[in-house]
Amino acid sequence: MKAQPTASHFINGAYIEDTAGTPIDVIYAADGELIARVHSATAAIVDQALNAAKAGQKIWAAKSGVERGRVLRRAADLIRERNHELSVLETLDTGKPLQETLVADATSGAESLEYFGGLAATLGGEHIQVGEDFVYTRREALGVCVGIGAWNYPTQIACWKASPALACGNSMVFKPSETTPLCALKIAEIFIEAGLPAGVFNVIQGLGDVGASLVTDARVAKVSLTGSVPTGRKVYAAAADTMKHVTMELGGKSPLIIFEDANLEDAISGAINANFYSSGQVCSNGTRVFVHADIKEAFLTRLAERMQGAVIGDPMDEATNFGPMINARQLEITEKYIAAGKAEGARLICGGDRVDRPGNYITPAVFADVTDDMTIAREEVFGPLMSVLDFTDEDEVIARANDTEFGLAAGVFTRDLTRGHRVVGKLEAGSTWINQYNLTPVETPFGGSKMSGVGRENGQVAINHWSELKTVYVGMTPVEAAF
Ligand code: NDP
Repeated sequence: MKAQPTASHFINGAYIEDTAGTPIDVIYAADGELIARVHSATAAIVDQALNAAKAGQKIWAAKSGVERGRVLRRAADLIRERNHELSVLETLDTGKPLQETLVADATSGAESLEYFGGLAATLGGEHIQVGEDFVYTRREALGVCVGIGAWNYPTQIACWKASPALACGNSMVFKPSETTPLCALKIAEIFIEAGLPAGVFNVIQGLGDVGASLVTDARVAKVSLTGSVPTGRKVYAAAADTMKHVTMELGGKSPLIIFEDANLEDAISGAINANFYSSGQVCSNGTRVFVHADIKEAFLTRLAERMQGAVIGDPMDEATNFGPMINARQLEITEKYIAAGKAEGARLICGGDRVDRPGNYITPAVFADVTDDMTIAREEVFGPLMSVLDFTDEDEVIARANDTEFGLAAGVFTRDLTRGHRVVGKLEAGSTWINQYNLTPVETPFGGSKMSGVGRENGQVAINHWSELKTVYVGMTPVEAAF
Protein backbone atom coordinates (compact mmCIF):
# COMPACT_ATOMS: atom_id res chain seq x y z
CA MET A 1 0.00 0.00 0.00
CA LYS A 2 1.75 3.08 -1.29
CA ALA A 3 0.92 5.53 1.51
CA GLN A 4 0.91 3.21 4.54
CA PRO A 5 2.08 5.17 7.61
CA THR A 6 4.43 3.58 10.16
CA ALA A 7 1.46 3.12 12.48
CA SER A 8 -2.02 4.55 13.01
CA HIS A 9 -1.39 6.93 15.87
CA PHE A 10 1.36 9.27 17.03
CA ILE A 11 1.49 9.62 20.79
CA ASN A 12 4.16 10.92 23.14
CA GLY A 13 6.66 11.43 20.34
CA ALA A 14 6.32 8.03 18.67
CA TYR A 15 4.15 5.99 16.34
CA ILE A 16 1.91 3.50 18.06
CA GLU A 17 -0.44 0.82 16.80
CA ASP A 18 -3.41 -0.94 18.33
CA THR A 19 -4.98 -3.30 15.84
CA ALA A 20 -7.90 -3.90 18.18
CA GLY A 21 -9.41 -0.67 16.78
CA THR A 22 -11.80 -0.78 13.81
CA PRO A 23 -9.81 -0.79 10.53
CA ILE A 24 -10.11 2.35 8.39
CA ASP A 25 -9.28 1.93 4.71
CA VAL A 26 -7.72 4.89 2.93
CA ILE A 27 -8.82 4.97 -0.70
CA TYR A 28 -7.13 7.17 -3.31
CA ALA A 29 -9.90 9.31 -4.78
CA ALA A 30 -8.35 9.35 -8.24
CA ASP A 31 -8.47 5.62 -8.91
CA GLY A 32 -10.14 3.80 -6.02
CA GLU A 33 -6.90 2.06 -4.99
CA LEU A 34 -6.44 1.08 -1.34
CA ILE A 35 -3.35 3.09 -0.33
CA ALA A 36 -3.27 2.63 3.46
CA ARG A 37 -5.10 1.07 6.34
CA VAL A 38 -5.15 2.54 9.83
CA HIS A 39 -7.07 1.59 12.95
CA SER A 40 -9.52 3.66 14.91
CA ALA A 41 -8.30 4.51 18.41
CA THR A 42 -9.42 2.17 21.16
CA ALA A 43 -10.32 3.56 24.58
CA ALA A 44 -6.78 2.66 25.71
CA ILE A 45 -5.24 4.73 22.88
CA VAL A 46 -7.48 7.71 23.66
CA ASP A 47 -6.45 7.47 27.30
CA GLN A 48 -2.76 7.22 26.43
CA ALA A 49 -2.95 10.23 24.13
CA LEU A 50 -4.68 12.40 26.71
CA ASN A 51 -2.25 11.40 29.45
CA ALA A 52 0.71 12.16 27.16
CA ALA A 53 -0.82 15.54 26.29
CA LYS A 54 -1.41 16.32 29.96
CA ALA A 55 2.23 15.61 30.88
CA GLY A 56 3.64 17.24 27.72
CA GLN A 57 1.69 20.43 28.26
CA LYS A 58 3.34 21.14 31.63
CA ILE A 59 6.82 20.85 30.11
CA TRP A 60 5.87 22.94 27.08
CA ALA A 61 4.11 25.72 29.01
CA ALA A 62 7.18 26.11 31.24
CA LYS A 63 9.28 27.14 28.25
CA SER A 64 9.62 30.78 27.26
CA GLY A 65 7.67 32.17 24.34
CA VAL A 66 10.92 32.61 22.42
CA GLU A 67 11.74 28.92 22.82
CA ARG A 68 8.25 27.85 21.77
CA GLY A 69 8.35 30.15 18.77
CA ARG A 70 11.72 28.77 17.69
CA VAL A 71 10.35 25.21 17.61
CA LEU A 72 7.30 26.26 15.59
CA ARG A 73 9.45 28.14 13.09
CA ARG A 74 11.81 25.16 12.77
CA ALA A 75 8.80 22.97 12.02
CA ALA A 76 7.76 25.50 9.36
CA ASP A 77 11.23 25.30 7.77
CA LEU A 78 11.08 21.50 7.68
CA ILE A 79 7.62 21.62 6.10
CA ARG A 80 8.87 24.01 3.43
CA GLU A 81 11.91 21.81 2.71
CA ARG A 82 9.59 18.82 2.28
CA ASN A 83 6.82 20.64 0.47
CA HIS A 84 6.87 18.32 -2.53
CA GLU A 85 6.71 15.11 -0.50
CA LEU A 86 3.99 16.53 1.77
CA SER A 87 2.00 17.80 -1.21
CA VAL A 88 2.08 14.37 -2.84
CA LEU A 89 0.80 12.90 0.43
CA GLU A 90 -1.95 15.54 0.61
CA THR A 91 -2.95 14.62 -2.94
CA LEU A 92 -3.02 10.92 -2.04
CA ASP A 93 -5.04 11.68 1.10
CA THR A 94 -7.61 13.93 -0.63
CA GLY A 95 -7.36 13.54 -4.42
CA LYS A 96 -6.79 17.29 -4.83
CA PRO A 97 -4.54 18.13 -7.80
CA LEU A 98 -0.83 18.53 -7.10
CA GLN A 99 -1.10 21.90 -8.86
CA GLU A 100 -3.13 23.02 -5.81
CA THR A 101 -1.47 21.08 -3.02
CA LEU A 102 2.01 22.33 -3.95
CA VAL A 103 0.95 25.90 -3.14
CA ALA A 104 -2.02 25.68 -0.77
CA ASP A 105 -1.61 23.03 1.88
CA ALA A 106 1.79 22.37 3.46
CA THR A 107 2.76 25.94 2.56
CA SER A 108 -0.32 27.29 4.33
CA GLY A 109 0.55 25.10 7.34
CA ALA A 110 4.10 26.49 7.32
CA GLU A 111 2.75 30.05 7.19
CA SER A 112 0.62 29.50 10.26
CA LEU A 113 3.60 28.05 12.14
CA GLU A 114 5.74 31.03 11.10
CA TYR A 115 3.05 33.52 12.07
CA PHE A 116 2.18 32.06 15.46
CA GLY A 117 5.82 31.11 16.05
CA GLY A 118 6.58 34.81 15.68
CA LEU A 119 3.77 35.82 18.02
CA ALA A 120 4.71 33.32 20.75
CA ALA A 121 7.33 35.59 22.30
CA THR A 122 5.01 38.60 22.32
CA LEU A 123 2.18 37.11 24.36
CA GLY A 124 1.48 38.73 27.68
CA GLY A 125 -1.02 40.52 29.82
CA GLU A 126 -1.43 44.12 30.90
CA HIS A 127 -0.92 46.36 33.89
CA ILE A 128 -3.85 48.30 35.31
CA GLN A 129 -3.23 50.88 38.02
CA VAL A 130 -6.07 51.12 40.58
CA GLY A 131 -5.18 53.97 42.90
CA GLU A 132 -2.12 52.81 44.83
CA ASP A 133 -2.99 49.18 44.23
CA PHE A 134 -2.51 47.64 40.86
CA VAL A 135 -3.65 44.71 38.80
CA TYR A 136 -1.83 42.73 36.19
CA THR A 137 -3.08 40.00 33.93
CA ARG A 138 -1.21 36.85 33.00
CA ARG A 139 -1.96 35.17 29.70
CA GLU A 140 -2.06 31.48 30.46
CA ALA A 141 -2.44 28.36 28.37
CA LEU A 142 -5.76 26.51 28.57
CA GLY A 143 -4.17 23.06 28.93
CA VAL A 144 -4.92 20.02 26.81
CA CYS A 145 -6.75 20.97 23.62
CA VAL A 146 -8.50 18.76 21.11
CA GLY A 147 -8.52 19.43 17.37
CA ILE A 148 -10.99 17.59 15.14
CA GLY A 149 -10.58 17.97 11.40
CA ALA A 150 -12.64 17.75 8.22
CA TRP A 151 -11.28 15.93 5.17
CA ASN A 152 -10.80 18.72 2.66
CA TYR A 153 -7.62 20.32 4.05
CA PRO A 154 -6.01 17.74 6.38
CA THR A 155 -2.58 19.41 6.63
CA GLN A 156 -3.86 22.96 6.79
CA ILE A 157 -6.51 22.20 9.41
CA ALA A 158 -3.99 20.39 11.65
CA CYS A 159 -1.56 23.32 11.39
CA TRP A 160 -4.14 26.07 11.74
CA LYS A 161 -5.23 24.52 15.03
CA ALA A 162 -1.82 23.41 16.34
CA SER A 163 0.08 26.65 15.59
CA PRO A 164 -1.85 29.06 17.83
CA ALA A 165 -2.55 26.34 20.39
CA LEU A 166 1.13 25.48 20.80
CA ALA A 167 2.26 29.12 20.61
CA CYS A 168 0.16 29.74 23.72
CA GLY A 169 1.68 26.76 25.60
CA ASN A 170 -1.13 24.25 25.15
CA SER A 171 -0.77 20.66 24.05
CA MET A 172 -3.04 18.99 21.51
CA VAL A 173 -4.65 15.70 20.64
CA PHE A 174 -5.65 15.95 17.00
CA LYS A 175 -8.15 13.62 15.35
CA PRO A 176 -8.17 13.86 11.57
CA SER A 177 -11.22 12.95 9.56
CA GLU A 178 -11.42 9.21 9.12
CA THR A 179 -11.35 9.88 5.35
CA THR A 180 -7.94 11.61 5.41
CA PRO A 181 -5.86 10.14 8.24
CA LEU A 182 -2.38 10.46 6.72
CA CYS A 183 -1.18 14.08 6.65
CA ALA A 184 -1.47 14.98 10.33
CA LEU A 185 0.83 12.07 11.23
CA LYS A 186 3.60 13.63 9.12
CA ILE A 187 3.10 16.96 10.87
CA ALA A 188 3.45 15.18 14.23
CA GLU A 189 6.73 13.60 13.05
CA ILE A 190 8.05 16.96 11.88
CA PHE A 191 7.21 18.61 15.19
CA ILE A 192 9.37 16.08 17.03
CA GLU A 193 12.21 16.64 14.58
CA ALA A 194 11.86 20.39 15.18
CA GLY A 195 12.35 19.90 18.92
CA LEU A 196 8.80 19.82 20.25
CA PRO A 197 8.74 17.87 23.53
CA ALA A 198 7.05 14.47 23.33
CA GLY A 199 3.35 14.52 24.12
CA VAL A 200 2.70 18.12 23.04
CA PHE A 201 1.17 17.23 19.67
CA ASN A 202 -0.48 13.83 19.34
CA VAL A 203 -2.55 12.36 16.53
CA ILE A 204 -5.11 9.62 16.99
CA GLN A 205 -7.33 8.17 14.29
CA GLY A 206 -10.98 7.44 14.53
CA LEU A 207 -14.55 7.83 13.52
CA GLY A 208 -16.98 10.26 15.11
CA ASP A 209 -17.15 8.19 18.30
CA VAL A 210 -13.45 8.82 18.99
CA GLY A 211 -14.02 12.54 18.49
CA ALA A 212 -16.99 12.35 20.82
CA SER A 213 -14.99 10.59 23.56
CA LEU A 214 -12.34 13.34 23.40
CA VAL A 215 -14.95 16.08 23.63
CA THR A 216 -16.42 14.78 26.88
CA ASP A 217 -13.14 13.95 28.63
CA ALA A 218 -12.47 15.93 31.80
CA ARG A 219 -8.75 16.28 30.97
CA VAL A 220 -9.62 18.43 27.92
CA ALA A 221 -9.91 22.21 28.24
CA LYS A 222 -10.82 23.15 24.67
CA VAL A 223 -12.21 21.66 21.49
CA SER A 224 -11.71 23.14 18.05
CA LEU A 225 -13.77 21.49 15.32
CA THR A 226 -13.73 21.95 11.58
CA GLY A 227 -16.73 20.14 10.19
CA SER A 228 -20.37 20.31 9.26
CA VAL A 229 -23.12 22.18 11.11
CA PRO A 230 -24.82 18.97 12.40
CA THR A 231 -21.51 17.73 13.88
CA GLY A 232 -20.81 21.19 15.26
CA ARG A 233 -24.13 21.21 17.05
CA LYS A 234 -23.34 17.87 18.71
CA VAL A 235 -19.78 18.78 19.67
CA TYR A 236 -20.78 22.22 21.03
CA ALA A 237 -23.50 20.63 23.18
CA ALA A 238 -21.19 17.87 24.43
CA ALA A 239 -18.47 20.38 25.31
CA ALA A 240 -20.95 22.42 27.35
CA ASP A 241 -21.26 19.70 29.98
CA THR A 242 -17.77 20.35 31.25
CA MET A 243 -17.77 24.02 30.14
CA LYS A 244 -14.95 23.61 27.64
CA HIS A 245 -13.77 26.41 25.38
CA VAL A 246 -14.83 25.82 21.79
CA THR A 247 -14.02 27.01 18.30
CA MET A 248 -16.41 25.87 15.58
CA GLU A 249 -15.46 26.21 11.92
CA LEU A 250 -18.53 24.88 10.15
CA GLY A 251 -20.28 24.85 6.80
CA GLY A 252 -21.73 27.57 4.62
CA LYS A 253 -23.86 28.58 1.66
CA SER A 254 -22.14 31.83 0.99
CA PRO A 255 -23.31 34.57 -1.39
CA LEU A 256 -21.12 36.17 -4.03
CA ILE A 257 -22.73 39.34 -5.43
CA ILE A 258 -21.65 40.65 -8.82
CA PHE A 259 -22.86 44.15 -9.66
CA GLU A 260 -23.31 45.45 -13.21
CA ASP A 261 -20.21 47.67 -12.96
CA ALA A 262 -17.88 44.85 -11.92
CA ASN A 263 -14.79 43.97 -13.92
CA LEU A 264 -16.32 40.96 -15.66
CA GLU A 265 -13.14 38.89 -16.04
CA ASP A 266 -12.21 39.40 -12.37
CA ALA A 267 -15.75 38.57 -11.28
CA ILE A 268 -15.73 35.38 -13.32
CA SER A 269 -12.32 34.41 -11.90
CA GLY A 270 -13.74 35.08 -8.44
CA ALA A 271 -16.78 32.92 -9.15
CA ILE A 272 -14.60 30.08 -10.47
CA ASN A 273 -12.33 30.26 -7.40
CA ALA A 274 -15.40 30.45 -5.20
CA ASN A 275 -16.88 27.25 -6.59
CA PHE A 276 -14.39 24.91 -8.23
CA TYR A 277 -11.11 25.03 -6.31
CA SER A 278 -10.56 21.65 -4.62
CA SER A 279 -13.45 20.34 -6.72
CA GLY A 280 -15.81 22.61 -4.82
CA GLN A 281 -15.01 21.06 -1.46
CA VAL A 282 -14.29 24.30 0.39
CA CYS A 283 -16.35 25.52 3.34
CA SER A 284 -16.19 29.22 2.46
CA ASN A 285 -17.23 28.76 -1.18
CA GLY A 286 -19.51 31.41 -2.66
CA THR A 287 -22.00 28.97 -4.11
CA ARG A 288 -24.88 31.42 -4.54
CA VAL A 289 -23.62 33.73 -7.26
CA PHE A 290 -26.01 36.69 -7.55
CA VAL A 291 -25.43 38.39 -10.92
CA HIS A 292 -27.06 41.70 -11.86
CA ALA A 293 -29.67 41.13 -14.61
CA ASP A 294 -27.97 43.69 -16.93
CA ILE A 295 -24.81 41.56 -17.23
CA LYS A 296 -26.27 38.12 -16.65
CA GLU A 297 -26.08 36.82 -20.23
CA ALA A 298 -22.60 38.27 -20.80
CA PHE A 299 -21.50 36.70 -17.53
CA LEU A 300 -22.91 33.28 -18.41
CA THR A 301 -21.51 33.30 -21.96
CA ARG A 302 -18.01 34.19 -20.81
CA LEU A 303 -18.19 31.82 -17.81
CA ALA A 304 -19.13 28.94 -20.12
CA GLU A 305 -16.09 29.74 -22.27
CA ARG A 306 -13.80 29.91 -19.23
CA MET A 307 -15.16 26.57 -17.97
CA GLN A 308 -13.54 24.96 -21.02
CA GLY A 309 -10.23 25.65 -19.29
CA ALA A 310 -10.90 23.01 -16.62
CA VAL A 311 -8.26 20.31 -17.07
CA ILE A 312 -9.71 17.17 -15.51
CA GLY A 313 -7.36 14.26 -15.02
CA ASP A 314 -4.66 12.62 -12.96
CA PRO A 315 -4.13 14.80 -9.86
CA MET A 316 -0.43 13.94 -9.88
CA ASP A 317 -0.09 15.58 -13.31
CA GLU A 318 0.68 19.20 -12.59
CA ALA A 319 -1.32 20.27 -15.64
CA THR A 320 -4.52 18.99 -13.98
CA ASN A 321 -6.47 21.80 -12.34
CA PHE A 322 -9.65 19.92 -11.45
CA GLY A 323 -9.45 16.61 -9.61
CA PRO A 324 -11.84 13.98 -8.31
CA MET A 325 -14.15 14.35 -5.35
CA ILE A 326 -13.00 12.90 -2.04
CA ASN A 327 -15.11 9.73 -2.17
CA ALA A 328 -18.01 8.01 -3.87
CA ARG A 329 -20.44 9.20 -1.20
CA GLN A 330 -19.63 12.86 -1.74
CA LEU A 331 -19.89 12.35 -5.50
CA GLU A 332 -23.34 10.80 -5.12
CA ILE A 333 -24.46 13.68 -2.89
CA THR A 334 -23.36 16.15 -5.59
CA GLU A 335 -25.19 14.17 -8.26
CA LYS A 336 -28.37 14.25 -6.18
CA TYR A 337 -28.13 18.03 -6.01
CA ILE A 338 -27.55 18.24 -9.77
CA ALA A 339 -30.68 16.14 -10.29
CA ALA A 340 -32.60 18.40 -7.88
CA GLY A 341 -31.44 21.50 -9.79
CA LYS A 342 -32.73 20.06 -13.05
CA ALA A 343 -36.00 18.81 -11.52
CA GLU A 344 -36.73 22.16 -9.87
CA GLY A 345 -36.29 24.08 -13.14
CA ALA A 346 -32.78 25.54 -13.01
CA ARG A 347 -30.97 25.79 -16.37
CA LEU A 348 -27.81 23.67 -16.57
CA ILE A 349 -25.21 25.70 -18.46
CA CYS A 350 -22.46 23.09 -18.32
CA GLY A 351 -21.07 20.12 -16.43
CA GLY A 352 -22.58 17.72 -13.95
CA ASP A 353 -21.54 14.57 -15.81
CA ARG A 354 -19.53 11.66 -14.51
CA VAL A 355 -16.17 11.32 -16.21
CA ASP A 356 -15.50 7.98 -17.84
CA ARG A 357 -12.45 6.94 -15.83
CA PRO A 358 -11.84 5.28 -12.45
CA GLY A 359 -12.11 7.54 -9.40
CA ASN A 360 -14.75 9.98 -8.19
CA TYR A 361 -14.79 12.37 -11.13
CA ILE A 362 -17.59 14.71 -12.12
CA THR A 363 -17.39 17.73 -14.41
CA PRO A 364 -17.90 21.12 -12.73
CA ALA A 365 -21.53 22.22 -13.02
CA VAL A 366 -23.04 25.69 -13.49
CA PHE A 367 -26.76 26.29 -13.11
CA ALA A 368 -28.43 29.55 -14.20
CA ASP A 369 -31.94 30.87 -13.45
CA VAL A 370 -31.68 29.53 -9.92
CA THR A 371 -34.26 30.93 -7.51
CA ASP A 372 -33.94 31.37 -3.76
CA ASP A 373 -36.31 28.56 -2.87
CA MET A 374 -34.53 25.85 -4.90
CA THR A 375 -32.72 23.12 -2.99
CA ILE A 376 -29.39 23.97 -4.66
CA ALA A 377 -29.72 27.56 -3.44
CA ARG A 378 -30.48 26.60 0.15
CA GLU A 379 -28.34 23.59 1.09
CA GLU A 380 -24.58 23.20 1.28
CA VAL A 381 -23.54 20.85 -1.55
CA PHE A 382 -19.79 20.65 -0.81
CA GLY A 383 -19.15 19.75 -4.42
CA PRO A 384 -18.51 21.50 -7.77
CA LEU A 385 -21.92 23.10 -8.30
CA MET A 386 -22.34 26.83 -8.92
CA SER A 387 -25.80 28.39 -8.72
CA VAL A 388 -26.28 31.67 -10.59
CA LEU A 389 -29.21 33.80 -9.39
CA ASP A 390 -30.43 37.10 -10.91
CA PHE A 391 -30.99 40.39 -9.11
CA THR A 392 -31.63 44.03 -9.95
CA ASP A 393 -31.65 45.98 -6.69
CA GLU A 394 -28.98 46.39 -4.00
CA ASP A 395 -31.27 46.18 -0.96
CA GLU A 396 -33.11 43.23 -2.46
CA VAL A 397 -29.90 41.26 -3.07
CA ILE A 398 -28.57 41.96 0.42
CA ALA A 399 -31.81 40.67 1.98
CA ARG A 400 -31.72 37.56 -0.22
CA ALA A 401 -28.01 36.96 0.46
CA ASN A 402 -28.69 37.07 4.21
CA ASP A 403 -31.74 34.82 4.04
CA THR A 404 -29.87 31.69 5.18
CA GLU A 405 -29.00 30.07 8.48
CA PHE A 406 -25.32 30.07 7.45
CA GLY A 407 -22.94 33.02 7.80
CA LEU A 408 -19.45 31.85 6.94
CA ALA A 409 -18.38 34.03 4.02
CA ALA A 410 -19.56 36.51 1.38
CA GLY A 411 -18.15 38.45 -1.54
CA VAL A 412 -18.94 41.51 -3.62
CA PHE A 413 -17.61 42.51 -7.04
CA THR A 414 -18.13 46.16 -7.97
CA ARG A 415 -16.05 49.10 -9.15
CA ASP A 416 -18.08 51.42 -6.90
CA LEU A 417 -15.92 51.92 -3.82
CA THR A 418 -18.66 53.07 -1.48
CA ARG A 419 -21.08 50.38 -2.63
CA GLY A 420 -18.50 47.66 -2.00
CA HIS A 421 -17.97 48.70 1.61
CA ARG A 422 -21.65 49.45 2.20
CA VAL A 423 -22.73 46.03 0.98
CA VAL A 424 -20.15 43.95 2.90
CA GLY A 425 -21.07 45.97 5.96
CA LYS A 426 -24.62 44.62 5.69
CA LEU A 427 -23.80 41.01 4.80
CA GLU A 428 -24.15 38.57 7.68
CA ALA A 429 -20.89 36.66 7.41
CA GLY A 430 -17.60 36.29 9.28
CA SER A 431 -15.23 36.42 6.30
CA THR A 432 -15.92 38.76 3.39
CA TRP A 433 -14.13 39.97 0.27
CA ILE A 434 -14.47 42.94 -2.06
CA ASN A 435 -13.23 42.23 -5.63
CA GLN A 436 -11.60 38.99 -4.50
CA TYR A 437 -12.73 35.65 -3.14
CA ASN A 438 -11.51 32.84 -0.87
CA LEU A 439 -8.12 34.27 -0.01
CA THR A 440 -7.49 33.54 3.66
CA PRO A 441 -4.01 34.71 4.68
CA VAL A 442 -2.95 33.56 8.14
CA GLU A 443 -2.55 37.18 9.30
CA THR A 444 -6.32 37.70 9.07
CA PRO A 445 -9.12 36.28 11.22
CA PHE A 446 -11.18 33.54 9.59
CA GLY A 447 -14.47 32.10 10.78
CA GLY A 448 -18.22 32.21 10.58
CA SER A 449 -21.23 33.82 12.17
CA LYS A 450 -24.78 32.45 12.61
CA MET A 451 -24.80 28.64 12.19
CA SER A 452 -21.40 28.67 10.48
CA GLY A 453 -19.37 28.88 13.61
CA VAL A 454 -18.10 30.27 16.88
CA GLY A 455 -14.73 31.95 17.36
CA ARG A 456 -12.04 32.74 14.81
CA GLU A 457 -8.95 31.02 13.52
CA ASN A 458 -5.82 32.89 12.42
CA GLY A 459 -4.86 36.50 13.01
CA GLN A 460 -3.86 37.85 16.40
CA VAL A 461 -7.40 37.35 17.67
CA ALA A 462 -6.88 33.56 17.59
CA ILE A 463 -4.60 33.96 20.63
CA ASN A 464 -7.68 34.88 22.69
CA HIS A 465 -9.29 31.59 21.72
CA TRP A 466 -6.31 29.48 22.82
CA SER A 467 -5.43 31.17 26.11
CA GLU A 468 -7.10 32.84 29.04
CA LEU A 469 -6.29 35.77 31.25
CA LYS A 470 -5.68 35.45 34.96
CA THR A 471 -6.25 38.69 36.85
CA VAL A 472 -3.86 39.35 39.73
CA TYR A 473 -4.92 42.14 42.09
CA VAL A 474 -2.00 43.42 44.17
CA GLY A 475 -2.85 45.21 47.40
CA MET A 476 -0.32 47.91 48.26
CA THR A 477 -2.32 49.56 51.05
CA PRO A 478 -3.78 48.45 54.42
CA VAL A 479 -6.74 46.05 54.08
CA GLU A 480 -10.03 47.57 55.23
CA ALA A 481 -12.75 45.34 56.67
CA ALA A 482 -16.24 46.03 58.04
CA PHE A 483 -15.41 44.53 61.43
P1 NDP B 1 -18.14 16.19 9.52
O1 NDP B 1 -18.89 17.15 10.35
O2 NDP B 1 -18.82 14.99 9.04
O3 NDP B 1 -16.85 15.68 10.33
C1 NDP B 1 -15.91 16.58 10.88
C2 NDP B 1 -15.06 15.85 11.91
O4 NDP B 1 -15.83 15.60 13.09
C3 NDP B 1 -14.55 14.49 11.44
O5 NDP B 1 -13.25 14.28 11.94
C4 NDP B 1 -15.55 13.56 12.07
O6 NDP B 1 -15.06 12.25 12.20
C5 NDP B 1 -15.78 14.22 13.41
N1 NDP B 1 -17.02 13.86 14.10
C6 NDP B 1 -18.16 13.37 13.57
N2 NDP B 1 -19.09 13.21 14.54
C7 NDP B 1 -18.52 13.61 15.72
C8 NDP B 1 -18.99 13.70 17.07
N3 NDP B 1 -20.22 13.35 17.43
N4 NDP B 1 -18.12 14.17 18.01
C9 NDP B 1 -16.87 14.56 17.66
N5 NDP B 1 -16.38 14.49 16.40
C10 NDP B 1 -17.20 14.04 15.43
O7 NDP B 1 -17.53 17.04 8.32
P2 NDP B 1 -16.75 16.53 7.03
O8 NDP B 1 -15.49 15.86 7.42
O9 NDP B 1 -17.73 15.82 6.17
O10 NDP B 1 -16.35 17.92 6.35
C11 NDP B 1 -17.24 18.65 5.57
C12 NDP B 1 -17.88 19.77 6.37
O11 NDP B 1 -16.89 20.55 7.00
C13 NDP B 1 -18.65 20.72 5.48
O12 NDP B 1 -19.88 21.07 6.07
C14 NDP B 1 -17.76 21.94 5.41
O13 NDP B 1 -18.45 23.11 5.12
C15 NDP B 1 -17.11 21.93 6.75
N6 NDP B 1 -15.85 22.63 6.71
C16 NDP B 1 -15.72 23.84 7.36
C17 NDP B 1 -14.57 24.58 7.28
C18 NDP B 1 -14.43 25.88 8.01
O14 NDP B 1 -13.31 26.29 8.27
N7 NDP B 1 -15.49 26.56 8.37
C19 NDP B 1 -13.41 24.11 6.50
C20 NDP B 1 -13.63 22.81 5.90
C21 NDP B 1 -14.81 22.13 6.01
P3 NDP B 1 -15.28 11.21 11.00
O15 NDP B 1 -14.82 11.87 9.75
O16 NDP B 1 -14.41 10.08 11.35
O17 NDP B 1 -16.73 10.90 11.01
